[in-house]
Amino acid sequence: MNLATWVERNGRRLRGRPATAVGDEVRGTWDEVAARVASVAGAMRGPLGLEPGDRVAIVMGNRPEYLEVQFAAWHAGLVAVPVNARLHREEVAYVLEHSGTAVVVVDEEHAEVVAPLVERLDGLRRMVVVPGGDWVELLYADPIPLQERASDDPAWLFYTSGTTGRPKGATLTHGNLLMASLSYFADISAVGDRDAVLHAAPLSHGSGLYGLPHVAKGAVSVFPASGALDGTELLALVRRWPGLSFFAAPIMVKRLATDPALAGADLSGLGTIIYGGAPMYLADLEEALATFGPRLAQIYGQGETPMTITGLSRADHAETDHPRWRERMAGVGFPRTDVEVRVVDADDRPLPPGEAGEVLVRGPVVMAGYWEQPGATEETLRGGWLHTGDVGSLDDDGYLTLHDRSKDLVISGGMNIYPREVEEALMTHPGVQSVAVVGKPDPEWGESVVAFVVLGGDGSSPTAEDLDRTCLERIARFKRPKEYHLVDALPTNNYGKVLKRELRTWLEEGTVPERR
Ligand code: AMP
Repeated sequence: MNLATWVERNGRRLRGRPATAVGDEVRGTWDEVAARVASVAGAMRGPLGLEPGDRVAIVMGNRPEYLEVQFAAWHAGLVAVPVNARLHREEVAYVLEHSGTAVVVVDEEHAEVVAPLVERLDGLRRMVVVPGGDWVELLYADPIPLQERASDDPAWLFYTSGTTGRPKGATLTHGNLLMASLSYFADISAVGDRDAVLHAAPLSHGSGLYGLPHVAKGAVSVFPASGALDGTELLALVRRWPGLSFFAAPIMVKRLATDPALAGADLSGLGTIIYGGAPMYLADLEEALATFGPRLAQIYGQGETPMTITGLSRADHAETDHPRWRERMAGVGFPRTDVEVRVVDADDRPLPPGEAGEVLVRGPVVMAGYWEQPGATEETLRGGWLHTGDVGSLDDDGYLTLHDRSKDLVISGGMNIYPREVEEALMTHPGVQSVAVVGKPDPEWGESVVAFVVLGGDGSSPTAEDLDRTCLERIARFKRPKEYHLVDALPTNNYGKVLKRELRTWLEEGTVPERR
């Protein structure tokens, strides 16, 4: 099934009803959006000369046209390549070249970055700027009927965020994305055509993926009018668009949870806040639950199995009287309906509950492979299981706790230390706002534990001794950081993930920007 079927159907059934909006203003009704999608698809297959399976990249900030381009590509039988719009020009060049993109659609903000690439890259034939004359031309092209696509036809090349080296293009098929959407309904939330989804995070990642089940059911896709969503804006949006759900990185949930505008506010119109993509520390989660109530759901996933491995449902969050509630909240939840999850040893043998190993996933949501990388595909999908590179353990009930990615594990004096555990301990200090722990080569211990701490929280200024005491109260002595660095901010990518490799570089090069 072609995913663009959803838009076409909504165009018939939900005539005059909002499909996209910016702030409180409707930008397109379903019949209008369906008509634009069919015309832009016509332009892609006609004047732009694209053939089924060709790639169309999108380098844009979030805006309603993003969805129109993406669905037009699908409608036309093409493959969409949503590129993280904050990448450096050379990184964008890499993705466009590697994916063999023929046409790239950009917004005005990114036109300057991408224009020189049209000259430079052989396969890249054309850049279309939105809005503007080029785009209007596409909108006025002759519409074409929805093209047939099989479940295993590629739909989305999802370039990984590259926290671990060169990005790879996870090839997500129409079938994969359909499965991810169905399991959203099964495990996270039902969606209706009176609901709304807010795109507060990049459409090239989680927000785009979680937007799909909302498009499927005819909910309206809402874009914040400002670049940075705050509590006041969120409140206004929830009033205007009841049943509003959104995906947010933990860092953003934390920021909103402590926004004074939301303290004691009426949030009855708020749907579900889906958080994930990076660790959510228990201390932050408790704060978020106090502000938002049981409207939070966690997801753990990867581009390779589009954000669908395990989840903590709203019901899990609400079950505060469960004897293992705290442990569960510190973990990443229960396997999603459409996947099998295993924790295995170095030889891929399943481990019993309680033992930590690599997390493997199998099911119809797992990517077809990495685009044009047979070696990496074979390695990652060996034995028919997706090897996530994440280290975790299952409990007796089948809930998964993630420790860290295998490469982030610190081995000190022969002991395995999971940075996450040390980070959780440090986060319990009320003066700590955020923290990241890495290993540093150590002649005596192999590696030693180093903590980078951003103060904030209650405004107190804990010293290294205070932080050390906090650790001693909670974790084994050998896990305590040997070194603390107080910094103003942690380096993150624009999906909110802390870039640990940059922290290691600071240490290697002696360039830690210490807070004065
Ligand atoms: P990406 O494919 O760029 O979304 O990165 C996926 C990686 O982010 C996973 O392999 C995990 O290491 C991490 N991740 C995703 N969701 C969570 C979560 N809920 N808690 C902790 N880490 C997560």
